[in-house]
Amino acid sequence: MTYDVAIIGAGIVGAACASALASAGLSVVVIDSAGIASGTTAAGMGHIVVMDDSEAQFALTSYSQKLWDELSTELPPSCEYEHCGTIWVAADDEELSEARRKQEFYTSHGSTAELLDERSLRAAEPNLREGLAGGLLVKSDSVVYQLTATQFLINKAEQHGAEIRIGSAAAITAEGVKLANGEVVSAGAVVNAAGVAAPDLSSGLKIVKKKGHLVITQRYPGFARHQLIELGYLKSAHASRSDSVAFNLQPRSTGQILLGSSRQFGVEDEEIDQVILRRMTERAFEYMPGLRDLLAVRIWTGFRPTTPDNLPFIGNLPDSKSTYVAAGHEGLGITTALGTAELIADAILGRESAISPEPYSPDRNFAQH
Ligand SMILES: Cc1cc2nc3c(=O)[nH]c(=O)nc-3n(C[C@H](O)[C@H](O)[C@H](O)COP(=O)(O)OP(=O)(O)OC[C@H]3O[C@@H](n4cnc5c(N)ncnc54)[C@H](O)[C@@H]3O)c2cc1C
Repeated sequence: MTYDVAIIGAGIVGAACASALASAGLSVVVIDSAGIASGTTAAGMGHIVVMDDSEAQFALTSYSQKLWDELSTELPPSCEYEHCGTIWVAADDEELSEARRKQEFYTSHGSTAELLDERSLRAAEPNLREGLAGGLLVKSDSVVYQLTATQFLINKAEQHGAEIRIGSAAAITAEGVKLANGEVVSAGAVVNAAGVAAPDLSSGLKIVKKKGHLVITQRYPGFARHQLIELGYLKSAHASRSDSVAFNLQPRSTGQILLGSSRQFGVEDEEIDQVILRRMTERAFEYMPGLRDLLAVRIWTGFRPTTPDNLPFIGNLPDSKSTYVAAGHEGLGITTALGTAELIADAILGRESAISPEPYSPDRNFAQH
């Protein structure tokens, strides 16, 4: 059997690619060593958020959010897709200036964002502590339960004839994918969507792991209404050497509170790090003191696949016409999976893309400086 495309990885990125490519009429096989949504996707937070760190990041996140909104009419209730919106919380006047800058950016790019003063912030989220300067409300952001959403995308691909295989890819070859058991899955094109393991199959790809912790509580309906992120989050997200924590809270439709987030480089073990966990929860208690009284039911860790410039690698590998990469989505892979999939399908099918694919090209990984 020869497939048009073999996708390595059934995380949300591989699943989205499978859905887009199979829907376009290509014969697709998805290969995963551990099963659907078993890697970083299982550990994520599911916040679909438009980010403005760079023009390229804004383009991919806002394009992807639009695709999620379009898909939402098809998503079953188990995907818990909700437009809860994001409030970027400003602790002081300096952060409020940052909220204003952010608002100007969104507005100048055609998105809507509403500035909140101290009182309107408290009215929107009564459990935040008093004395916070204000915030920025972005109503169009949403939340999805990424595990069921990944399964939904896989099901959609299967409905269009895609096949799912459990097996470990050992190498990408001119014929397709060589499995660890020696078998070769023959394919015209291969998409490496192996997340943090992508460099094992495409050598030289600069993707490293950034460890994160999350905590989920019992059900407390109404305790919080929006995804809440401190504006200092961006400093944490971009810290490239030291460990960092930031207040990042998500109300789930079940009434549970999902609490993040931490970032650690150079840590390979999955163990819960009590020191960083304490720092992370203490940070959250500073913003929402009532969190101290909630009961946590589970704590876990995951590894974000991080690239040197915080943009994913999406597109053709320079040294191979038939090998594509869709990996390195850091803390935004749930958000950007659908846009990534369209860019990959466009590249394979020779279609024009809705946004410029250039900033995400794997070429920059191999460029000499
Ligand atoms: C704590 C935390 C919070 C996050 N919160 C958010 C959020 O709120 N919003 C957001 O947008 N993103 C978030 N993310 C990021 C998001 O989870 C990731 O960017 C995304 O899940 C990456 O998906 P992926 O499909 O690329 O990788 P993965 O989900 O890791 O999938 C890769 C798959 O490849 C398979 N694989 C690897 N090697 C091989 C091989 N050799 N052969 C066969 N199969 C192989 C693995 O088994 C795995 O299933 C968060 C991440 C973390 C850790």
